[in-house]
Amino acid sequence: MNEYDLVIKNGTVITAVTTIQADVAINGETIAAIGQNLCGKREIDARGKLVTPGAVDIHVHLEMPIGNFRSTDDFFTGTAAAAFGGTTSIIDFVEAEPEETLLEAAAARRALADPKVVIDYSLHMTITPADIAKLAQVPDAFAAGCTTFKLYMAYGYRLHDGELLQALTAVRDVGGLPVVHAENWDVITTLIAENLAYGRTAPHWHPRSRPALMEGEAAGRLIDIAELVDVPVHIFHVSCVDTVEQIARARRNGRPVTGETCPQYLFLTWDAYDAPGVQGTLPVCSPPIRSQAEQDALWQAVSRGDLQIITTDHCPFTIEEKATGLDDYSTIPGGVPSIEMRFPAIYSRGVGSGLLTPSQWVDMCCTAPAKLVGLEKKGHIGVGYDADLVIFDPHKRVTLSPETLHETAGWTPYEGVTLTGWPEMTLVRGQVVVGDGELKVEGGYGRYVHRTKANLPA
Ligand SMILES: [Zn+2]
Repeated sequence: MNEYDLVIKNGTVITAVTTIQADVAINGETIAAIGQNLCGKREIDARGKLVTPGAVDIHVHLEMPIGNFRSTDDFFTGTAAAAFGGTTSIIDFVEAEPEETLLEAAAARRALADPKVVIDYSLHMTITPADIAKLAQVPDAFAAGCTTFKLYMAYGYRLHDGELLQALTAVRDVGGLPVVHAENWDVITTLIAENLAYGRTAPHWHPRSRPALMEGEAAGRLIDIAELVDVPVHIFHVSCVDTVEQIARARRNGRPVTGETCPQYLFLTWDAYDAPGVQGTLPVCSPPIRSQAEQDALWQAVSRGDLQIITTDHCPFTIEEKATGLDDYSTIPGGVPSIEMRFPAIYSRGVGSGLLTPSQWVDMCCTAPAKLVGLEKKGHIGVGYDADLVIFDPHKRVTLSPETLHETAGWTPYEGVTLTGWPEMTLVRGQVVVGDGELKVEGGYGRYVHRTKANLPA
């Protein structure tokens, strides 16, 4: 009888299309067989547990410089926290300095990440306004494995509509996928200036400076420009119904448009900004967290499939860093930590409530994101795929806090939230990365994934 290197026995295997009782056999770094009564030199008993693909988070910012700060999780602590939560691949970002080429910037980012990562990763190439002069380098970035390109409609990296048109065209010409932060920056900066002039400086005014209606407007404008130049587009961190409706309408019209949302929009409400003192600054992120009605509508959109993917936009800062904006909400460094809780949280709240089937959970957190960004061997349990797997205990209860999580911000916006279901073991390419509650590999075990495509057929 054929003996495999490792067999995960007796688990309930969940993929984006089916749930079956089966053993999963691994040879080397790859899934070799799925079936009954498989034998391994090593065996892991997963009876009573779920076996899922490793989760894929295509939107994280590790050690990202923003102003005077740098997001707190680095490529080691961030990928370790991800692994504890069942995430086995991430996509981070490259931002070139004005004097750098896109290739130089990608190489520098890899030099930072490669020795630290404990799971596999790849990089989106950001096209900033300064990079509009470098669009001839887009084919180089694509050839270096950055097949997806981040475009901002907000912040200092904001592209005006004409620049957006140029960037979308350049990405189309290489067969890449644009991934976009869609908000209306002119309206936002005007509302911020008005609020500050009236002495409205508290975080309460953060969501009220970034109206849902104008997030939808920006998304619709982006979708129209993308249609004009005939390029697919993925919309990051959807926070409201207005944006969901723009995406759903485009998809009904056959446009290759996808959207994602994140745990902060599915678990929190804007009441969090009214917490006293520095507590109210902590959940500042953009787009902002919105009302309970918006949260409920996002869960419905996820359930219906009007949003296809759940990511995190993980970008935490410490309490001290957040506190620097206590007197002016517009200067608070934006972002929250979610990299560890995403996969179990969507199981607990989504599958636990019946809003999502187990296959929808796996599709939105693993399979669909891997296909979208061109991680060809990730996100699915199938022969020939990388043996990135999670053994998931559907009954384990975990109350989220800085003590139970491995993120380093020192706080979590989900403090006190109890989840039912948590990963027991996480494997990356056949190697146990987290097991027995411990990290089992050193920084550098993870690898850069050199992508050659984007937007693989679903
Ligand atoms: Zn982001």
